[in-house]
Amino acid sequence: MTAQPPAQAGQPAIRRPALKMVIGGKQVSGADGRTFDVVSPVDGRVIARVARGGAEDVDRAVRAARQAFDGEWHTWSQTRRGQTLARFATLIRDHLEELAQLESENMGKPISSARWEIGAVANVMEYYGGAANKLMGETIPVSKPGFDFTLREPIGVVGLIVPWNFPLMLASWKMGPALAAGNTAILKPASYTPLTAIRVAELALEAGFPPGVLNVVTGPGAIVGAAIAAHPGIGKVAFTGETATGQEIMRAAAGNIKKVSLELGGKSPNVVFADADIERFAAESPYSVFDNCGQDCCARSRIIVERSVHDKVVELFAAATRKVKVGDPADPATEVGTMVSFQQRETVLDYVRIGQEEGGRVVVGGGIPADPALAKGAYIEPTVLDRVTSPMRIAQEEVFGPVVVVIPFDTEEEAVRLANDTPYGLSGSVWTRDIGKAIRTAKAIQSGVISVNCNSSVHAEAPFGGYKMSGTGRENGMHAFESYTQVKNVYVDLS
Ligand code: NDP
Repeated sequence: MTAQPPAQAGQPAIRRPALKMVIGGKQVSGADGRTFDVVSPVDGRVIARVARGGAEDVDRAVRAARQAFDGEWHTWSQTRRGQTLARFATLIRDHLEELAQLESENMGKPISSARWEIGAVANVMEYYGGAANKLMGETIPVSKPGFDFTLREPIGVVGLIVPWNFPLMLASWKMGPALAAGNTAILKPASYTPLTAIRVAELALEAGFPPGVLNVVTGPGAIVGAAIAAHPGIGKVAFTGETATGQEIMRAAAGNIKKVSLELGGKSPNVVFADADIERFAAESPYSVFDNCGQDCCARSRIIVERSVHDKVVELFAAATRKVKVGDPADPATEVGTMVSFQQRETVLDYVRIGQEEGGRVVVGGGIPADPALAKGAYIEPTVLDRVTSPMRIAQEEVFGPVVVVIPFDTEEEAVRLANDTPYGLSGSVWTRDIGKAIRTAKAIQSGVISVNCNSSVHAEAPFGGYKMSGTGRENGMHAFESYTQVKNVYVDLS
């Protein structure tokens, strides 16, 4: 692999031919000088060539992060850390358009979504900037006459491994609390989408974080990610991605008893009772599963609907789905862009086929859009599958694409049983006008996040994370902040 390849026939030259990692405040190549190509799913073009790091580079980053942790960073007050995060937030906002364009081109998400996400990244930094000097200890009345108090201390070097579906936003959920708590970090972006992570590490330096506080190592998960998970110099690993990868990380982290937080897959239910505002549900809910082309761990990918309103819900939901605007991510009117890759699209199309073989009926979508203007990109139609039962694979496994299944129920008890009938427990929604039923159902669903009469349950200020196979630990809010600290108890003998 070379740093500066010639343009391929018919392809324009790569605009970003040699993007490097950021280690110890410097832009560096991988130890062995290799690179990898980053392809846009919008038209299959290579849009960047990025340093391909390895275990040696993780070592290098851990040394730089440790040096920063023990050095200047250690002497900073929490207030100064918070102020720097606030400056970082401002810089991210100043570069919102640039970062949004990068994210949209790299991942295929609509520019309107990318703009919203980068704004949300800035908000997260601001939130943790404000929180930085508000993490306090306790004084504890112990049974002896001494003085007992606790300190909340940073863990040290933390590893942050993130996926490609919301590349910078999911990184911010980890960077914000990690840095606010006084840790230093090594961020490993997904190989599909490393561009915004590299750029934001440069902005962090510009904001005033000392070199080595935020490092970015790019390269294959099985090498770079695995080295982070196993590294004895890293005290915590925070991961978002596939459940099977999370299990590997947990095993690797056992070596030095790392703290681990995992935000994994989901198969979230959207439970619709007959007394709900069905029209509103149908108008709003396509976005709960088709946004980001369905590549969302919170996607409400199972509609569990009371049988008496099943036909009406399917009809209205299908009509709303037909109106979802699939198109060029650069067009501000586009609501759904491409999948992250052509390979990922194949996986989703396979699932649609499996769902049909199992007895599901495609009500809308199910294939590749016919529009010739979309022929070059990894586009796929938003898809609704009816006549699905809970044991089917299409109702159990995370498709991670714009596919929703519809499953009927007869009683509240059955609705809850179906909602809980997957190995996952990340998110979900309940639609009803009966407040008692809403709260009973929200409490009975085994998942970390639930919304009632709406589909949005994620807020920078509130805890987010999974039950069961959807993960452990919480992101966002003060729960995440505390998870990047460790508690020290100090007892002073006053006798
Ligand atoms: P992965 O879980 O493999 O990737 C997520 C991150 O982990 C990436 O940065 C990846 O690096 C890294 N990684 C991969 N293998 C390891 C490892 N052994 N140790 C440490 N880190 C590792 O997800 P994929 O990108 O492969 O997507 C596969 C499926 O996972 C999707 O189809 C979807 O179902 C699910 N998924 C779920 C997400 C969620 O938010 N719940 C997010 C993304 C995917 P690299 O990119 O270099 O491989």
